[in-house]
Amino acid sequence: MKKRFLVLVLLVISLFLLLATVSAEEIVSDDSNTEIGVFSEKQSVTSSDEPNDNMGDDTSNDLDDNDSKNFSDSNSISVSHSSTNITTINSTTTNSTAIDTTTTNSNINTSNVPFKFTSTKNIVSTYGKKVKFSLKVLNKEGKAISHTLVTFKVSSKTYKVYTNVNGISSINLNYNAGKYTIYYYASDISGKNRYTVKNYYKITTYKWNSGANVLKNKKIKSNVLKSTLVKKIIKAAKFGTPIIKFKGGNGKVVFITSGVHGNEIPSQIASLKLIKYLETHSIKGTIYIMPFMNSKGTAANVRNYKGIRLNKLANKKGTISYKTVKLIKKLKSNAYGDFHSTRPGGKPGKNVVMGTYRPTKKSATLAKYISKKAKVKCIIYKKAGVEYPGALEDVVSMKGIPAVSCEVISPHGKIKSGSVSKSLLMMKTLLKYNSVI
Ligand SMILES: [Zn+2]
Repeated sequence: MKKRFLVLVLLVISLFLLLATVSAEEIVSDDSNTEIGVFSEKQSVTSSDEPNDNMGDDTSNDLDDNDSKNFSDSNSISVSHSSTNITTINSTTTNSTAIDTTTTNSNINTSNVPFKFTSTKNIVSTYGKKVKFSLKVLNKEGKAISHTLVTFKVSSKTYKVYTNVNGISSINLNYNAGKYTIYYYASDISGKNRYTVKNYYKITTYKWNSGANVLKNKKIKSNVLKSTLVKKIIKAAKFGTPIIKFKGGNGKVVFITSGVHGNEIPSQIASLKLIKYLETHSIKGTIYIMPFMNSKGTAANVRNYKGIRLNKLANKKGTISYKTVKLIKKLKSNAYGDFHSTRPGGKPGKNVVMGTYRPTKKSATLAKYISKKAKVKCIIYKKAGVEYPGALEDVVSMKGIPAVSCEVISPHGKIKSGSVSKSLLMMKTLLKYNSVI
């Protein structure tokens, strides 16, 4: 009997132990699902009424905070948690699984974590042209991740764009001319690329029966610059009066002319230098440059056009200078500069900027500014059209557009040392006054 009883007792104990183990496993199992980050030490002391509020935040942190410390913490704590907690947590199966597999299946764990961007290229564009910048977000295994937030920053703008089903996130850019950096981030990864916007340009030739090969002028030919645009405008001059437009933003419109007197070389070379400069330097508005108003005069290295004194007849219908004034007005110019050279001992015979007080006071203000900044003399006449009736500057001023004439000393048909750079400086100063460069 005793022996039987003992066997029975042992049997009962074994059964009890077995049951106890199973229930313990169940609890642990629940607990591991519960995981964790969710049940931090702090939460273990809070009441079980709160978990619903905490859940949202905590589960979102799960993937970031799935370290082993949290795991063991919750293991020891979770048994005492109410079933409400556990049930709620189980609903976040994906997260729990991800955390659960930290040690066994790291592939799944990192599948939605941005690891790197595909290589992206620097962008070069032209003002007014929309371009798309795209990148792909990859995980550690090199697979694209969809629905991941990518933040782009360009200049002062921020764009937030989720990756599409192919893991691609893109933004459209249409910026003013200039140099920018595109910065981008997704979780902990980041990158950057350059975005360069060049000035828009366009060459138009006005067939005013003024066309000629300006390279026939030896001084022009020997000073021609290596520049695609300079070559193009010289070619265009064969067919008339060429004009080049540059635009890099919605700023002011400045109109520059040279060569109304064909044998005044320095200002025409300065115009070509300015064209070359604008090929690579961004601007904030619009610039029109007419380097050879009178291509025929330039080619022949003579002052006038077929004997016509263009700078005395800008107010006479039909002349090239008259047509130029009409164009300056039509293109809504905010300022105008006509560039010449003056021979030593001639009139005015010095480096000088000229303007008028009336009817456009800004002509005088502009002249004073150029005089000060470019360190040249300044002559301001009371009223436009009195001393120089029919001069381009005067006629433009009389139309309400601020206008100046800029002279540099150089013998006709020749280039005095320093005259080109002085002329160019005055052009750039005119542009700076108008905030275009
Ligand atoms: Zn002149």
